[in-house]
Amino acid sequence: MKTLWKLDYSQVKSGLNSGEFTPTELAESLWERIEAVDPKIKAFLSYEKEFVLKAASESTERRKNGKPLSEFDGIPIGIKDNICVANMLTTCASRILENYRSPFNATVVERLLEKGFVLFPRTNMDEFAMGSSTENSAYQITTNPFDTTRIPGGSSGGSAAAVAASMVPVALGSDTGGSIRQPASLCGIYGLKPTYGTVSRYGLVAYASSLDQIGPLSKDLQGVVDVYSVISGKDPRDASSRNISPYDPSKQQSVKIQGLKLGVMKMTSEISPEVAKAYSEVLEKLKAEGAELVELDFSKLGSAIPIYYIIATAECSSNLSRFDGIRFGSRKDLAGKLEDLYVSSRSEGFGPEVKRRILLGTFSLSAGYYDAYYGRAQKARVLIRKEYEGYFSKVDLVLQPTSPTTAFKIGEKTSDPIQMYKADILTTSVNLAGVPAMSLPIGKDSQGLPIGLQVTGPVLEEGKIFSFVQSLSSRIDPKIDLPDTIR
Ligand code: GLN
Repeated sequence: MKTLWKLDYSQVKSGLNSGEFTPTELAESLWERIEAVDPKIKAFLSYEKEFVLKAASESTERRKNGKPLSEFDGIPIGIKDNICVANMLTTCASRILENYRSPFNATVVERLLEKGFVLFPRTNMDEFAMGSSTENSAYQITTNPFDTTRIPGGSSGGSAAAVAASMVPVALGSDTGGSIRQPASLCGIYGLKPTYGTVSRYGLVAYASSLDQIGPLSKDLQGVVDVYSVISGKDPRDASSRNISPYDPSKQQSVKIQGLKLGVMKMTSEISPEVAKAYSEVLEKLKAEGAELVELDFSKLGSAIPIYYIIATAECSSNLSRFDGIRFGSRKDLAGKLEDLYVSSRSEGFGPEVKRRILLGTFSLSAGYYDAYYGRAQKARVLIRKEYEGYFSKVDLVLQPTSPTTAFKIGEKTSDPIQMYKADILTTSVNLAGVPAMSLPIGKDSQGLPIGLQVTGPVLEEGKIFSFVQSLSSRIDPKIDLPDTIR
């Protein structure tokens, strides 16, 4: 029983359903694992042991009585700190929410609980999901399990590191411009950014509402597919939710590699040689299996980063206005005037990156500059969406590296925000277009650091992505072993 924590998602699921071990035994083993390695990884912002073990024992009871809530009853899942869990702290890794306990569950949380999942709150993140390295957390820096002097990616770095270091088999993250796919890539696991509107945002603390989506990260594809099938589907409490049923894996037709048309990119100087090499090796393999590779023109997507940062900062400046020390957020300077209370609560509560973005967003939304920046960015966003429509009129799926480099060193990019923003060069356009994309591990570099492939599909074609990823994974055996120190 000692090593249940080592199991990947599929093994956890089958072991629970065959009665090989109980949800309690599993949760206890994961707990030992967390206590042993998390002091080095720092993936969790708090240790909710009692809460977890109670949920696990309720699940054990249900299974013992032959009444599991579903085939998922007892499966542990990490929860990012910007997804509301009732009565639990939900701080978005920010000081301004340090005492915030959510009075309600996010829709995704409710759906997981209905099926019996055991929640493991709260994984670390960049403050309000703004960042690409998890270094913007107000509380701690999460490290990459493959090399603890490096970042795990961000902003869902806590979720990715927790999964990669076997502290949970699957976790939820959120992705506004790459925050599920990029950490998944840098930590050698699978991560899905679903089609915009397929997963409810109710109870996800908003960063940029027109881009944010919740999605799963897992060590194997099955975890991503299962969790997506549970959390997707119409939610009347989210006005941007699509009128669709939850994803049904049984209706998925399999995709054959033979004859499949795959859009590929020419490598640029921004992509590191080792990432480029792993990418081209996968393409060679696919070609040998009969896939047709079509080189696409990605030049228009080159503007995705500036468009993204105008839209995302504009939306965040508006969304974060509710944290004023009165409606939300810890209150400072009670003795001063009302204005002083606002100013001190926000000045003390927000970290430097969040402040930078509120300033940028307020500027681009201001009367004198709206047309020049925000208005133009919105028009350019439409062109990005059309560009993707053009791609998918020619190919079935688009393949790119997820991240231009493997995991960088802690502190390497913190003094230069533009360098940090460039970590998202291959992921932001996907959110602007609202299409689904997934990162999967395809190998590692000469230092043993994971490399990921991003597979992007047309709107609502998650099933096509899953089926392709399944065929591809079985051909490349992407299992990437952790170093001894953490294994
Ligand atoms: N790194 C990007 C940003 O800082 C994306 C973040 C995200 O997807 N939440 O905005």
